[in-house]
Amino acid sequence: MFSFFCYTEKERKKTMAEMEKDTFQYVVEQFADLQLLRYQVPGFEELSLNQKKLVYYLSEAALHGRDILFDQNGKYNLLIRKVLETVYTEYQGDRTDANFLAMETYLKRVWFSSGIHHHYAADKFVPGFTPEFFAKALQSIGEGKFPIREGESLESLCEEIFPVIFQSEVMPKRVNQADGEDLVLTSASNYYVGVTQQEAEDFYAQMKCPDDPTPVMFGMNSRLVKENGKVQEKVWKSGGLYGQAIDTIVYWLEKALEVAENDAQKAVIEKNIQFYKDGDLKTFDEYAILWLKDLDSRIDYVNGFTESYGDPLGMKASWESIVNFKDLVATKRTETISDNAQWFEDHSPVDKRFKKAEVKGVSAKVITAAILAGDLYPATAIGINLPNSNWIRSVHGSKSVTIGNITDAYNKAARGNGFTDEFVYSEVEKAYLEKYGDLTGDLHTDLHECLGHGSGQLLPGVDPDALKAYGSTIEEARADLFGLYYLPDAKMQELGLTPDDDAYKAEYYSFMMNGLMTQLVRIELGNNVEEAHMRNRQLIAKWAFEKGADQKVTEWVKKDGKTYVKVNDYEKLRQLFGQLLGEIQRIKSEGDFEAARQLVENYAVKIDPELHREVLARYEKLKLAPYKGFVNPVYTPETDAEGDIVDVKISYGEGYAEQMLRYSKDYANLPLRNE
Ligand code: ZN
Repeated sequence: MFSFFCYTEKERKKTMAEMEKDTFQYVVEQFADLQLLRYQVPGFEELSLNQKKLVYYLSEAALHGRDILFDQNGKYNLLIRKVLETVYTEYQGDRTDANFLAMETYLKRVWFSSGIHHHYAADKFVPGFTPEFFAKALQSIGEGKFPIREGESLESLCEEIFPVIFQSEVMPKRVNQADGEDLVLTSASNYYVGVTQQEAEDFYAQMKCPDDPTPVMFGMNSRLVKENGKVQEKVWKSGGLYGQAIDTIVYWLEKALEVAENDAQKAVIEKNIQFYKDGDLKTFDEYAILWLKDLDSRIDYVNGFTESYGDPLGMKASWESIVNFKDLVATKRTETISDNAQWFEDHSPVDKRFKKAEVKGVSAKVITAAILAGDLYPATAIGINLPNSNWIRSVHGSKSVTIGNITDAYNKAARGNGFTDEFVYSEVEKAYLEKYGDLTGDLHTDLHECLGHGSGQLLPGVDPDALKAYGSTIEEARADLFGLYYLPDAKMQELGLTPDDDAYKAEYYSFMMNGLMTQLVRIELGNNVEEAHMRNRQLIAKWAFEKGADQKVTEWVKKDGKTYVKVNDYEKLRQLFGQLLGEIQRIKSEGDFEAARQLVENYAVKIDPELHREVLARYEKLKLAPYKGFVNPVYTPETDAEGDIVDVKISYGEGYAEQMLRYSKDYANLPLRNE
């Protein structure tokens, strides 16, 4: 499962001095609705030689799966990518021509989505160049450069792919979720061939045994096809479908095995290889259990068929990989918080009856991503919680991580994009945000995750689902308030988590600005606030605003016709957060449905249309790309005279097109056409 955050609320400005000091370029380029960023891999240089080798081998295993995802996303994707790249690199005509530029943008979008459909919306891209231009470009380059089948011509290649690129009614959606249609036949993803939805559902229904306490995830690693009238699976494994790519992945995993850090990690890699070889879903479950229990290794990775968002029936898993290592400093932070869980519980502004006598914090691991691949590249999640198998999760638990350097890259790249200048009231608040914003944002998340959700208790006999539809908003508010209440606490400085008495003001200001105003940029005019986290933020911010209105704790200020949030009394604001935390905990502990309903309906749902219109118009002017992705760093092994690796160097200079073209050259390992 993925967790995605929206970073717009944390976007901040960078000072000139900092800009000069900081030569690392986080923003690579922007086109269509996409922005490409770069991430740093702090700590890589300090890894041991064996650990560096391990990261390098696992990265190679990651990059060698690239073509699998392209093919899973649609059967023409590899062929179309090849033709586009050939025109892009070989075209001798006018490269500033509007048609050529539109084709370049189209190719960049295809790279980004691993196919011809939008990575998020799943709609097919509308090319901004004409078929006439494209046909002429192909002819000018000449037949010899293109993948043409024996006995065929450039014309037949055009006939093969032009309708897929240019005709809107051909393969319009990668994943169709429209109720009432045959979701399998109308989805362009390459998971089912010649099979109807009914046939696919029947095929898997007869496999399932309702009494099995440990059911495998049927269908997850295969394409379902109908051949000679018979529905059957073509399994993705060595010697099976995608076998060429899988064999190369296995080659690099075997190299990784030689430098594994310990026996637990070795067992994980061995099982991963075994699964790629036998394709047996029981093997996969064994692998998943070994993986979730390996918590002590510094280096960790995912490599395989993982998430099923790309299958309209939610069974077939898309291929992805991430290689990472534990961020020791950030993980220390979450451990410090977690180790002091009892102190925080005992001192919270909550009625004694609602507190846990014995509380245990959760220490979430913070990781540094070293390479992203497949369905995690270029667009990636910032947190991962795996495995997805329900029975494994309930019996063995799961591993949950947040990716620190990706979060950091989002924050850094957002500086200077104009958002802060547009929405933050004055230089005072901007200075707080700049100085403390990243730190207190992370700390708030840590307190929320490590302590907030685990704090408090229900009174005996209270139904945990008593708050019904309001339950998740109230629960998120409880966790957020726990963090907000403690950020300014002296205990935080005592534990070395915050540097001084001002740091918390950065998070307080951005929380109020976001909850009262800027999170509205994600909602269409006329709609209400629906999502639980957004409802929670508005609930807290509006409640604290209203309760502190007499004393002007927070107020609206108009400047040059624009509306701003101004916090006048941060200490009073903390008291208000504490007061609301007490009340929200009471509602939860007593299962007071009516009070939950009142709070949510009065504060969390409705939007002032006039303010909403203003915020959207101001945001629109900033022209920020709504979707972001990342260019990977490059790992280069250095060898001695015997060819042994003596070091692995990391570099960041590669451009987006440069990287994609290199990957297409070095990591292409599947046939361009499905036979
Ligand atoms: Zn939460």
